Amino acid sequence: MKFTDLSLSAALIKELERQNYQQPTAVQQATIPPILEGKDVMAIARTGSGKTLAYALPLLQHLKIDPLSNREVQALIMVPTRELAVQVSEVIITFSKALKNPLITRAVYGGVSINPQMMQMNRVDILVATPGRLLELMDKNAVKIAKTKILVLDEADKMLSLGFKVEMDQILHRLPTKKQSLLFSATLSDSVEKIKADLLHDAVVVESTIAESDVSLIKQIGYRVTAEKKGVLLRHLIESNDMQQVLIFCSSTYQAEHVNDKLNSNGIKSKAIHGKKAQSTRQGHLNDFKDPDNEVRCLVTTDLLARGIDIEFLPYVINYELPRSPKDYIHRIGRTGRAENPGTAITLVTPEEAHHLRVIQKKNNIKIWMEDLPEWNS
Ligand code: ADP
Ligand code: MG
Repeated sequence: MKFTDLSLSAALIKELERQNYQQPTAVQQATIPPILEGKDVMAIARTGSGKTLAYALPLLQHLKIDPLSNREVQALIMVPTRELAVQVSEVIITFSKALKNPLITRAVYGGVSINPQMMQMNRVDILVATPGRLLELMDKNAVKIAKTKILVLDEADKMLSLGFKVEMDQILHRLPTKKQSLLFSATLSDSVEKIKADLLHDAVVVESTIAESDVSLIKQIGYRVTAEKKGVLLRHLIESNDMQQVLIFCSSTYQAEHVNDKLNSNGIKSKAIHGKKAQSTRQGHLNDFKDPDNEVRCLVTTDLLARGIDIEFLPYVINYELPRSPKDYIHRIGRTGRAENPGTAITLVTPEEAHHLRVIQKKNNIKIWMEDLPEWNS
């Protein structure tokens, strides 16, 4: 199937060609037509399968410029993290620029001053937002969602999880009942099933033929190692495999800082991103890490960056510690092996973590290949 088979406008097709997208991915093929028809859609498709464009393209085609909008958002896209808000808005803005009448897209998220964001809200067609900041802006009357036509929940299961429940309830409450709702996620949970009943009407459910936890493009290996030896093993793996770009996940802010310091003091250029860092620093480090010309080899982070972040051709993900939630294992390793590219995910496991690793494998129906510890000179 080609993009031209999907009833997309000539301007969008041209932009897809310009950006060298050859053909729609499975989830794009399945969701773009029903979204264009105005149907509610719930799509479950693996990480890196192109879900952003699956909703962004029909959205851009659907919406018409409304110069009188006066703080009324036409389409609202909810995402769990600030970095993802920036990423999604950037994708939409590039495509929007290709339209004859570009729609105005803004990203709003916490951790930065609210005033510049407020001043941008006079006219906004598409708003990408994290829940807390959206509520703040609504409380200040800077933005209104009572006439919103389309709601997208990216990383839907996360948006509907307990952690966001209070905020999301308020937001859902203030949206009109009559709207088109689109839910996208790589993992499905009971809360999504429930919301399907509560939030969606007559929804088209798309489950990509490839199972949600299909991560077959990703080579998954593990090493059994004591906590004390993890640091030196990590450095050995980076050096011996000549890893030039590796995303390293830790379970806490403290640990992420510690691992980052150790890497740098051993001459491996690294940056750390976690919830205690200033937002501008977080975004700066992420940009440096993504930039192929930059020397930053390692980005050490927490589950903050497990969801949705797209790093082109990222070859390696290392779990320095296991994620608490088995689902997050899938999201973490899904940062590599994107858009049909191969990748390697390495997990370091202490004897204490062995049981939890079994749970992760069982819940996700995957097998992590345990390797013998390499020998190194230390
Ligand atoms: P997901 O949200 O499903 O994890 P993304 O939307 O972030 O995935 O897309 C992952 C990567 O795939 C991005 O770099 C994106 O540009 C690329 N991509 C999206 N659609 C296509 C396509 N039709 N063909 C090739 N690459 C694509
Ligand atoms: Mg995504």
